[in-house]
Amino acid sequence: MTDTFPRELRQALAETSAPLLEGADALPYLDDRSGAAGAAGARALAVVRPGDAAEVATVLKLAHRHRVPVVTRGAGTGLSGGATAVDGCLVLSTERLNRVVEISPEDEVVIVQPGVINADLNAALEGHGLYYAPDPASHAISTIGGNIATNAGGLRSAKYGVTRDSVLALDVVLADGTALHTGHRSVKGVTGLDLTALFVGSEGTLGVIVGATLRLRPLPAATATVSAYYPSVRAALDGVRRISRTGVVPAIAELIDHPSLRNIDENTGSRLTDGGHVLLLVRTDGHAAAAEAEDVVTALRHTGGDAHRVTDEAEAERLWELRRSGRGRTRPLWTVGEDVAVPTSQVARMYEEGERIGRRHGLDFASVAHAADGNLHPVLSRPVPEGVAPTAPAPPELDAAADELVRAALALGGTVTGEHGVGVTKRRWLEDELGAAGLALQRAIKAVFDPLGILNPGKAI
Ligand SMILES: Cc1cc2nc3c(=O)[nH]c(=O)nc-3n(C[C@H](O)[C@H](O)[C@H](O)COP(=O)(O)OP(=O)(O)OC[C@H]3O[C@@H](n4cnc5c(N)ncnc54)[C@H](O)[C@@H]3O)c2cc1C
Repeated sequence: MTDTFPRELRQALAETSAPLLEGADALPYLDDRSGAAGAAGARALAVVRPGDAAEVATVLKLAHRHRVPVVTRGAGTGLSGGATAVDGCLVLSTERLNRVVEISPEDEVVIVQPGVINADLNAALEGHGLYYAPDPASHAISTIGGNIATNAGGLRSAKYGVTRDSVLALDVVLADGTALHTGHRSVKGVTGLDLTALFVGSEGTLGVIVGATLRLRPLPAATATVSAYYPSVRAALDGVRRISRTGVVPAIAELIDHPSLRNIDENTGSRLTDGGHVLLLVRTDGHAAAAEAEDVVTALRHTGGDAHRVTDEAEAERLWELRRSGRGRTRPLWTVGEDVAVPTSQVARMYEEGERIGRRHGLDFASVAHAADGNLHPVLSRPVPEGVAPTAPAPPELDAAADELVRAALALGGTVTGEHGVGVTKRRWLEDELGAAGLALQRAIKAVFDPLGILNPGKAI
């Protein structure tokens, strides 16, 4: 980097952009929700908030010329350190790129800028009879650009797939400022290599997404919710498999184990644990939602579930909100959270492995799971003892247990991260999953897009 970079950047953006943020003003843009070690201590040069794609290109051209690292940032809700600042970087925030550009009910597509919040997009679609399906639990706070860059999953992934399945085309600015359009507005299209898919999940390492053409779906005519309590996780997962055999594809199937139910009760005042040990929540949707829900109830009862359809809509919504409410804390805890995914036949084994690993290290284990797609969110924790500062370094057992947990997922044919992305926190397992040849090829691909390595260095791959 040369000394003239900040001055040249200010000059280039003088008339068009919001001011650069520096010092204390930049602080809210440096970290994400992972608490990734070292992130808060990184010193960014400044935060730039471009207002259009041309400004993004101007910023990247200049950064490229001066070899300044650029960390693109959506809302900073990431859980693996992807958007955390690195020393000497320019943070490029997409918060001002927040327009829904076009809604096309005829083509069932929408074109958006990357800084649009996921829930705001669906609010904008209200009245058109359409919706955008990918629904991370962070839908009220995370951006479409961040969702695309992490290939976010969500509750509805069980039926509608992950973000990748709803992205048709992208506008991207490459590391040297070159503008690129990938993909197509049509649902089909197989011309050339699938660069759109490559950018989805690339975590800010290949280019800055400045626009996206997204596939929409008709709003379901109806939805129905089934609640089923089971005596064990294994029995509940038998229930999920039994649903598959009925031919019903649930829109959502979420499993909440007992420690997670207790956690929700403690944090929200709910009384979910009064109902039973483990809770399976299922949603069906579409014209046949009610009939499918009855089939689901029958299947779950056959596997020992205390299952019933939740006919009170407000109660159903309350249950889904409780599931989304996430993990809270009523007392200081040292925790480590993971995001492993395993083949659906191995989810019960994954729970057993997690419980065993927790016991061996003297840690509490809890996990919710997107049960239909095998994605678990295990949390290992230990209360911080009285008299010890909550900020004191976590005991090494947490790290050792997390390592065993991830390796157990890999041994079961699974993956290090189902939906949160690699960022910085999961890089240590990259080679274990991708293999040396696979990782080398991925790094070679990155070098084609970003030969100077200025985009989100040290992240993802
Ligand atoms: C309470 C809570 C619940 C969550 N639930 C889920 C869930 O159910 N499913 C799930 O998948 N995740 C979930 N997450 C994680 C997080 O919300 C997602 O990873 C989300 O997609 C990140 O979006 P963001 O806008 O905050 O991106 P950021 O955190 O700002 O960035 C994430 C990554 O994307 C890159 N990036 C962002 N914008 C762009 C762009 N325009 N161009 C190129 N790269 C870009 C960044 O460099 C970074 O690598 C949850 C997080 C929280 C706090």
